[in-house]
Amino acid sequence: KMSASNGKNSIRNPNPPVEDSVFKALRLDGRTVIITGGAGGIGYEISRGLAEAGANLSIWYHNSKVADKLASKIAADFGVKTKTYKVDVTSYSEVEAAVNQTVKDFGRLDVMIANAGVPSKAGGLDDKVEDWDRVRAIDFDGAYYSVRAAGLVFRQQKSGVAIITASMSGHAANVPQEQSCYNAAKAGCIHLAKSLSVEWAKWGGRINSVSPGYIDTAISGDCPFEMKEEWFSLTPMKRDADPRELKGVYLYLASDASSYTTGADFVVDGGYTAR
Ligand code: NAD
Repeated sequence: KMSASNGKNSIRNPNPPVEDSVFKALRLDGRTVIITGGAGGIGYEISRGLAEAGANLSIWYHNSKVADKLASKIAADFGVKTKTYKVDVTSYSEVEAAVNQTVKDFGRLDVMIANAGVPSKAGGLDDKVEDWDRVRAIDFDGAYYSVRAAGLVFRQQKSGVAIITASMSGHAANVPQEQSCYNAAKAGCIHLAKSLSVEWAKWGGRINSVSPGYIDTAISGDCPFEMKEEWFSLTPMKRDADPRELKGVYLYLASDASSYTTGADFVVDGGYTAR
């Protein structure tokens, strides 16, 4: 019979990779993090959270005019190195080149956060087929390309962490907006992270996903008031979230505090899917 203690027949790891201080385990000093969609609402706040913990940031943007300004502000506020890269995540060659350039510029790569994403314009039958292609290409293919290119570096160094920003819409067909293509792409992201976690565990890599609910950013901010009222009434906490409310979960997943967490999805949705 195996014992859970440190006794003779212990199945415990005799030398677990654990810091005694949880605050030390949460630090990212000197580590390099890539974040896609890093100049967007959620991406910018995640960047600030990880920079506050000491991470240097490779901030990827697509069409932002303020990415350089935001990156300089983060560098000044937290004394870390930041650099921006213009990358279309639907192009694997661009993604691969930017991963390799990041490794050259920073000397290492520790974390990939595949966060870029766009909403569907309409329901599954009303969306144009080209819109399905576009949403899938950014939200699903783009996530895969990002974690794949980083994963190749991670596998070589036998360490590395990836996080995919999925959505509560990957768990439930949330209403009132109809957005089947988005929902399906995000569900794909959740299972992609789960599946890759099993493959990566063999050599020491970890990958998880985060499923936010209604977060106050450009994606949700432009919606009509009536739609927002309905969201809020369907959300047990009766409000949307400030994007800063996501910083903690990304810091946990990017850091050694989550050293035994892989293949998991973290729902941060004010209770929407629990309901
Ligand atoms: P946002 O629009 O502010 O940010 C999205 C980012 O993705 C932008 O910076 C945009 O430039 C980038 N992007 C779009 N197309 C791209 C492409 N082809 N290549 C590279 N980058 C591209 O919105 P956000 O709310 O910050 O969204 C961030 C992530 O969170 C997305 O994946 C989104 O689906 C997800 N999410 C958002 C909410 C919400 O309510 N805001 C809820 C659940 C999930």
